[in-house]
Amino acid sequence: MASTPQCAKCPVFYCESTAFEKLNISTLPENCPIRTSSDVYKQSVIEYKEDPVRRLYVPATIAEKEAYQRIRGALMAVRPRIKELIEFAKLLNVGKIGIAFCAGLRDEALRITRFLEKQEFTVASTVCKCGAVDKTSLGVDKKYKIGNSERFESACNPVLQAKLLNKAKTEINVIVGLCIGHDMLFTMNSNAPVTTLIVKDRLLGHNPVIGLYTSYHRPIIESQERT
Ligand code: SF4
Repeated sequence: MASTPQCAKCPVFYCESTAFEKLNISTLPENCPIRTSSDVYKQSVIEYKEDPVRRLYVPATIAEKEAYQRIRGALMAVRPRIKELIEFAKLLNVGKIGIAFCAGLRDEALRITRFLEKQEFTVASTVCKCGAVDKTSLGVDKKYKIGNSERFESACNPVLQAKLLNKAKTEINVIVGLCIGHDMLFTMNSNAPVTTLIVKDRLLGHNPVIGLYTSYHRPIIESQERT
């Protein structure tokens, strides 16, 4: 039977403070995965000991630690995400980084490229419209074009973006503002591991967390657009 972990609703978060061996299973929530899926837990621990998991995991955890410094007695965050990306890539000994960007974020893509090149990475970049192909050629009905349905409308082409970066033999790939779903297709087709530097949020300046906190956005989020 499929189990449905519900960590987001957990009232205790004991996994954050107590080692697995010392947990009192009876105090864990009924659908706690430690309780319901200990076989999966044990298998995952084994995987961390081997590549490709180990190759990424250890540097990622070092980068996590280095993102903090003790300043005036307080443990403080000291790196914006772009700096974390740079330092993580150095820990991985990466020489070539791919950027898959949205045409609407070309300015940001250029800034990121310049920062990475200053750190002596080779950067390959592909824009979402790189195939110059009309949306209807990729199976989309013309009524779903954003502009005039009778005119050429260049399609986002995440499969091509990934394949071009695969061909360029990038070692890690960075998503810069790809549309929802297109980002999934890019990730599915990328040979290199993918991280997201900018997640697209057209309404909230690419900062989706704002929508979680303000009552102004709640009616939009809770509205039923499809019934
Ligand atoms: S793993 Fe268990 S204890 Fe940890 S957050 Fe999830 S439900 Fe809570």
